[in-house]
Amino acid sequence: MLEHKIPVELPAGYIDFFKNLESWQNEEMIKLRKTYQPEKKDILKALNDQRKPFVIQLNPHIEVDAFKDVLTRLLDFLKDRRPEVQDKLMLIAKQLDKLDYEDIIRSFLQGKYSNIEEIAARHDLPVELFFFVIDHAMRPFLRLFAEPYTKELVSDNFYWDFPATCPVCGSKSHFSRLRTETGQRFMFCDRCFSEWKVRYIFCIHCGHDRPGDITFMTVENDDAYRLYVCDKCKGYLKTYDERPGGETTDLFIANIETIYLDLLAKEKGFTNHEQ
Ligand SMILES: [Zn+2]
Ligand SMILES: [Zn+2]
Repeated sequence: MLEHKIPVELPAGYIDFFKNLESWQNEEMIKLRKTYQPEKKDILKALNDQRKPFVIQLNPHIEVDAFKDVLTRLLDFLKDRRPEVQDKLMLIAKQLDKLDYEDIIRSFLQGKYSNIEEIAARHDLPVELFFFVIDHAMRPFLRLFAEPYTKELVSDNFYWDFPATCPVCGSKSHFSRLRTETGQRFMFCDRCFSEWKVRYIFCIHCGHDRPGDITFMTVENDDAYRLYVCDKCKGYLKTYDERPGGETTDLFIANIETIYLDLLAKEKGFTNHEQ
């Protein structure tokens, strides 16, 4: 993996924290794989018929007890790695037996994130941190759920109207990978690790595709990371451009490492249309 120069100061240990979190999630996936094996269904047909993220159409059957176990271990992991938020983590840990996990799991999968915030507020918990732990405890399940569909999402029969939304888990994506030789672009979901095909000269936000209006910029001669911007809706998309010869990278970490591109985009008046 190439080392990329980061033109902005990130807090000390910031990237290492996310690398460790990803490793922890990989270990949880290995444990869960023995008990969590959602049945494989016809995703292409489901996406065509209903035009909604697969997880909303199909209940992925995440067991309350299994989720609570992962959440408990995540809090322990965070207590070690983020001692500065220890007190807030303790507040959450104390409420673990009182939470309505059915409601939390359902709300999260359906994308009803304000419900998660309301649950936090009802239990007097720090809202942002609570959302973070629910999100990250859910990811090992979502990644296992998404795993069987890797090939379908990049196949010729894949068709999806909402390029910025993950067709599997419904999460928003602002990061893509570009295969240089073919010009094929794949969106990446950092929640479930799905990748899906989108067109190259094309704005994932508004669908605009006039070549001169979709341009890209790079920072400090680093050609691998590009910021694609759309003149029409002022939307941006971060992109990792694979070098000829096939340099691979960890897209989850690449997305975090390129926070400077988000800052640059916003500074120049572009948006990811999140807010
Ligand atoms: Zn996803
Ligand atoms: Zn656009």
